[in-house]
Amino acid sequence: MTKKTFNIAVIAGDGIGKEVMPEGLRVLDAAAKRFGIALQYTHIEWASCDYYAAHGKMMPDDWKAQLSRMDAIYFGAIGWPDKVPDHISLWGSLLKFRREFDQYINLRPARLFEGVPCPLANRKAGDIDFMIVRENTEGEYTAVGGVMYEGTEREVVLQQAVFSRHGTDRVLKFAFDLARQRERKHVTVATKSNGIAVSMPWWDGRAAEIAAGFKDVTWDKQHIDALTARFVLQPQRFDVVVASNLFGDILSDLGPACTGTLGLAPSANLNPERKFPSLFEPVHGSAPDIYGRNIANPIGMIWSGALMLDFLDQSGTAGRQAHDAILAAIQQVLHDGPHTADLGGKASTTELGKAIAAAVERAA
Ligand code: ATP
Ligand code: MG
Repeated sequence: MTKKTFNIAVIAGDGIGKEVMPEGLRVLDAAAKRFGIALQYTHIEWASCDYYAAHGKMMPDDWKAQLSRMDAIYFGAIGWPDKVPDHISLWGSLLKFRREFDQYINLRPARLFEGVPCPLANRKAGDIDFMIVRENTEGEYTAVGGVMYEGTEREVVLQQAVFSRHGTDRVLKFAFDLARQRERKHVTVATKSNGIAVSMPWWDGRAAEIAAGFKDVTWDKQHIDALTARFVLQPQRFDVVVASNLFGDILSDLGPACTGTLGLAPSANLNPERKFPSLFEPVHGSAPDIYGRNIANPIGMIWSGALMLDFLDQSGTAGRQAHDAILAAIQQVLHDGPHTADLGGKASTTELGKAIAAAVERAA
């Protein structure tokens, strides 16, 4: 059998996206070589504010046809607020991908590593190691609603949240499936059924029904207010956390914040059925304030690449091995250095990327 080659669209985008992307690719290359995974890159210049400056739009008209041919999109960062307003840059690229490619899972790991200062007191490496699964297509983020008596004292605003059985079940199933592959096999379902009296009790009911199909996975549900407090006070209690679009949005900023610098956090926007390409990107943005100095931390980009290899390779072990080796290399470099400025060091983006790639090459 010939080995499958994975076609990756590489979109560096704007700002430090352009600086961390080469390091992401350096580590991907090292992992692909080490674990026998075949990758083919297509470098894409559009979906960037430079492209917008030249063409007056973020992407060519056939963007969807071009990207549909890919297995995955490896994405740096988008946005240059001084030149292009966010509603054009973001809505004209990244948010289109999420919607049109039905990337209904937003996955964000949060893990505390040794060598990274933790904003929470008395936390050591290993205390925090969980996955946030956010519903990415419906819930509270809809444009359904309206205004009555606009501009008068009788003004009334209404905005609907939308929960479909299809949309809810698929995100819950994904979370339980993910938990099944992990050591602790536990799902925490974020809810607010004591306050949001229609949709959230229904959401809890869907969770109970889905959970019944996963006898090997334990689960509990927690109200979002108590859950956010526990993220800070008892983060070691979490394994997989699944949440609606709004609650997931909040949790997925809070989670990485509990584990140190923004520069480390990775994310995946998944279409688990693989009908469309999934997208892998660091959580941070284009960070215009530090762009051009080669000091950005490339770990969020590199870790996102590890998530991509794990997701792409369904055939067995190589993707998972590559993922684990990259994580081990990240862990080692965070412990021993070199460190970028956000970690308290003086090393460059390139030096960090090279050190991680070298550690992957040495992986057993
Ligand atoms: P966006 O709207 O795209 O999320 P933002 O301006 O809100 O962008 P970021 O671009 O993510 O946020 O940057 C927030 C701050 O964090 C920046 O000021 C930057 O200095 C810092 N930062 C972000 N990413 C990194 C990184 N990879 N390495 C070091 N510092 C970073
Ligand atoms: Mg931001």
